[in-house]
Amino acid sequence: MGEKRKKIDPKIEFDNSVHEEINNKLKRNKCMYEGCTSNAIWSHSISRSISLGEIARNGILLSPKSERAYPNKKYFIDEIGYRGASGFFGFCEVHDNILFEELDNHSIQTTMDIVTQLYRSVNYHYFNDSAQLIAQTRPLERLGKWDLALNAINKNKIYLSRLKNFQKELFQLMHYHDYLKVTPNPLPMTKSKISNIIIFYKKLNFQVPIAINTIYSYGSNNEEFDLFVTNIPYKDSTDFLMMIDARYYNYFNDMLNYIFNADINILNYIERVMMSSEHWWLKPEIYEQFSEEKKRIVQEDLYCYAGLENEYDISIFDDIRYGLITGEPQFDHEREKLLSSLPERAPFEKRKNNMDYEIVAKILRSKKLVFERDV
Ligand SMILES: [Zn+2]
Repeated sequence: MGEKRKKIDPKIEFDNSVHEEINNKLKRNKCMYEGCTSNAIWSHSISRSISLGEIARNGILLSPKSERAYPNKKYFIDEIGYRGASGFFGFCEVHDNILFEELDNHSIQTTMDIVTQLYRSVNYHYFNDSAQLIAQTRPLERLGKWDLALNAINKNKIYLSRLKNFQKELFQLMHYHDYLKVTPNPLPMTKSKISNIIIFYKKLNFQVPIAINTIYSYGSNNEEFDLFVTNIPYKDSTDFLMMIDARYYNYFNDMLNYIFNADINILNYIERVMMSSEHWWLKPEIYEQFSEEKKRIVQEDLYCYAGLENEYDISIFDDIRYGLITGEPQFDHEREKLLSSLPERAPFEKRKNNMDYEIVAKILRSKKLVFERDV
């Protein structure tokens, strides 16, 4: 009719088609409980009633979002409703109720609660990442890079089979009635090796107002292995959990023992996770009280700080940090993050270009890479 069609950027159109494909796949998910064939309902991997609800404001949390225009991504922090926060089509109504009733009523009390929570966490990743298989390979196919696409598909298959192993291990442990006993806090390292996995757990007696359910894949000597990180805030406490395959204990030993050595180290680690992961949901007031400059730097760092090698040099949770270091002279250096002005950063475009180069270099070298599962 002579109407001028709105011109859509072909890159964005392509992205939209990939996302539609992913969403269609996700909607068809069956219950992930072994042997069950019922349809899955939408539920949360972190309890909405006693955790997300405690940090949300009118059902709203903050989470990193990305604008996609392959192969580039732009990150920013934005509002997210309850539904999206840690949600997935994981289990049918019956299993969702039976398995996670305890976790929706109280914080972690027993070793069984730990095992059940990690089972929920792993399934969230399996659900998301199995769909990401599509997203990861489509851009490569589009660019005609068939060998890279094939390589990515293979790597993802191996990754998903690792997740399956964690699922199986945790599934078996969920039937071990000895775990109904009250769990030691923190779970001592020597006792945390259960079956073929090692779990690190600590209950903090204060709230760290961010929910996290993320996974990192590490690479060393042509092997890849995973580290799960879950943080669950409650009204006045926090459950912090990490899990690895026991075969890679030596690789993570020093790092994990350091983190669990002091509450301030856990807080620092949580801030590092924030800057290198997309799977977190933050109490809005924490970010809103930042100055405009701090907001800008933090959002830019979301793109540039993917390394996880260093502690983040900006304090996110000022009040908690202050509380943890007061009267603890050995942590005096932490005070600098509270007092000093914001660190200088190179111009964003320059950092971004370096980062893009680094990412490509890492993929090509495929050596010691540390990354969150993502496209
Ligand atoms: Zn089921």
